[in-house]
Amino acid sequence: MKTLPPGSTLGILGGGQLARMTAMAAARLGYKTHIYTRSADEPACQITPWRTLGDFGDHKKLEFFATNVDVITLEWENVPAAAVATVERHAPCYPKSSVLHIAQNRLLEKSFARELGLLTPEFRAVHSAVELRSALDALKLPCIAKTTRMGYDGKGQVVIRKAEETENVWKALKTDEAIVEALVPFEQEISVITARRADGLMRSYPPVENRHKNAILDETHVPANISEEVRKQALHMAETLCEKLEVVGLLAVEMFVVNGKVLMNEMAPRPHNSGHWSIDGATTSQFEQLLRAICGLPLGDAHALFPCVMKNLIGHESGNWRDYLSMPGAHLHLYGKREARDGRKMGHVTIRNRKGEMEG
Ligand code: AMP
Repeated sequence: MKTLPPGSTLGILGGGQLARMTAMAAARLGYKTHIYTRSADEPACQITPWRTLGDFGDHKKLEFFATNVDVITLEWENVPAAAVATVERHAPCYPKSSVLHIAQNRLLEKSFARELGLLTPEFRAVHSAVELRSALDALKLPCIAKTTRMGYDGKGQVVIRKAEETENVWKALKTDEAIVEALVPFEQEISVITARRADGLMRSYPPVENRHKNAILDETHVPANISEEVRKQALHMAETLCEKLEVVGLLAVEMFVVNGKVLMNEMAPRPHNSGHWSIDGATTSQFEQLLRAICGLPLGDAHALFPCVMKNLIGHESGNWRDYLSMPGAHLHLYGKREARDGRKMGHVTIRNRKGEMEG
């Protein structure tokens, strides 16, 4: 396994908050970061002077970017395959296109998990309103229909409670391929982030519990309040997927806990919002761990140093920054986005969970 030492240049496709926090971690270890993004106004461009501005269809610019970096990663699994193929010709790019191919498609990722003997909600592939209707009959209502590609933060998905809604739901999805799943009456939503190096060494963060508001992550509670048996299942699921996909970098797996069983919901081969707590609550943040994994460095300690809660600051919630600065045990992170639009992730705060601090 090749080691890329401090002083090397990391390239990141994408310039949002995940790229920004990765670049900050890289800077701490003496690496330079070169960002490939559309606009210099993006959060990651504010903290590193090296950037190439272009879109993912501009292969000349992608080539320029790739020839000026030593290793490449991405903050978004939906980077087009052609863009990844272009940069890969000049520098190693992690995650590999084989991982992206699966992680870009909800049907492929759930089928992959099933083939490994891992549990998922019951699901069917559908390509028309007629197929959707027969899937609803097979799965039993209520169900949730999702586009197979490009869904995030609840976008591209609809809960179906009555069979009469079939036609309207199919039209609303605006797609020619969808996945329809049984709606799981889960007790908890949890996630695990696992790092893996090219030589196969893996290290996982503890399972955490995620609470959503309007289908967007609102709070992550660390560690998840789960039994030892559920904890083991969750770690087994994340590590099996990471190993079998041969991920180099990070794999975040979102799961449902229902009746003591862990079901896989979704995975992302990149830093994940539910791992932001690790900047302040672990010895090695998920961003530093990503850098360590793709540069062939020793993987760092991924234990939680103390119980904590990460709260996302969505839209105008970021206006409460003063309160968080005054709160004992709170670590505030703002992403430098100019406009606080509804649903936009503006920052987060990680609060050390001493009794009484998060409650009320
Ligand atoms: P996803 O984009 O697939 O992560 O879905 C967003 C959110 O919708 C999840 O975090 C769950 O709260 C909910 N959800 C998605 N799929 C299911 C399911 N099969 N059963 C119950 N809730 C679901």
